[in-house]
Amino acid sequence: MNAQAQAQAQTQTQTTPRPAFGSVLADTMAVATFRNGQWSDHEFRRTGSIELSPAAHVLHYASTCFEGFKAYKWADGSVNVFRMGSHIERMCQSARALAMAEPDADQLEAMVLGVIDRVRGQVPEAPGALYMRPILFGTTPNIGAAAHPPTELMLLVLASPVWDYFAGGVKALRIHVETEATRCASHLGVVKTGGNYAAAMGPTLAAKQKFGVDQVLFCPGGEVQETGAANFLLIRDGKILTRSLDSTFLHGVTRDSLLRMAPSLGYEVEERVFTVEEMLEWVKDGEAALSGTAAVLAGVGTLVRDAREHRVGSGDVGPHTRRLRATLVGIQQGEIPDTHGWLHRV
Ligand SMILES: *Cc1c(COP(=O)(O)O)cnc(C)c1O
Repeated sequence: MNAQAQAQAQTQTQTTPRPAFGSVLADTMAVATFRNGQWSDHEFRRTGSIELSPAAHVLHYASTCFEGFKAYKWADGSVNVFRMGSHIERMCQSARALAMAEPDADQLEAMVLGVIDRVRGQVPEAPGALYMRPILFGTTPNIGAAAHPPTELMLLVLASPVWDYFAGGVKALRIHVETEATRCASHLGVVKTGGNYAAAMGPTLAAKQKFGVDQVLFCPGGEVQETGAANFLLIRDGKILTRSLDSTFLHGVTRDSLLRMAPSLGYEVEERVFTVEEMLEWVKDGEAALSGTAAVLAGVGTLVRDAREHRVGSGDVGPHTRRLRATLVGIQQGEIPDTHGWLHRV
């Protein structure tokens, strides 16, 4: 490509915005149903509307859980899915926590791989990916079943082509530190269930309006937990600090992946409960970041607490955050060897 064509291509990518994350679905989905105590065979269908009774359990009593993970198109043209087994396991745990029949792990894997295989031509090039979204929900038609788990369920696997998460440029996040409101019921923090996001919506919108922040960091009782949809890490030279696993927050696979690779990059990992005070001390010359499948690792530039602003390090995305993100993305994209067995070629 000559310089002019290159400049033109660049202008085009800048002026033609890609669809927003999650707004496009691939053309094939997988469907299975649970009835009379067993799972049906699954089928692959053209992505489209589903039929649901208006009395369906999920619509009234929020019997639902989901997963989110990505498959990547590598430079050699192959498509590789990241930590599928961990996500399937977490989906099964979520179903159990909500008293729903668990998906059959082998069947769910076949549904995921079958969808990826059928839509492989729709997987965007790096830094894009195919975002996989299995969802399980109660379909029992009974509006009187508030105190009963659904006996009929539907399991879907959707796929969504996603493009560069940071297409608008990498920008350090502005985060409100919330010490009063909780994100969700304390025993459900560990469950990836729709109601938790509905519960976090009010406090998040209020903080956005009041403080002009991007997200809320939930710290009930002054203990740091996580944001509405991402885990929280403190990072500095040779050290990462994050909350130890308990039922109050979602056990992110990205968090786990970062912590597992950290030692080989020279970081000592500390997992324990820590307070807002300790966090504010740390960020005077350290870094803070949010981890999750969508963005992988996003740097925090400002913490807002009681309407007071605390700059995190330089106020920009820090060098450790960039390095950790680049390393994990490099593994996901097949540019750095996957020594952990995290990737599965489809
Ligand atoms: C999905 C999610 C995360 C991130 O989990 P990953 O497995 O890393 O994508 C963190 N917190 C909440 C509340 C989530 O829903």
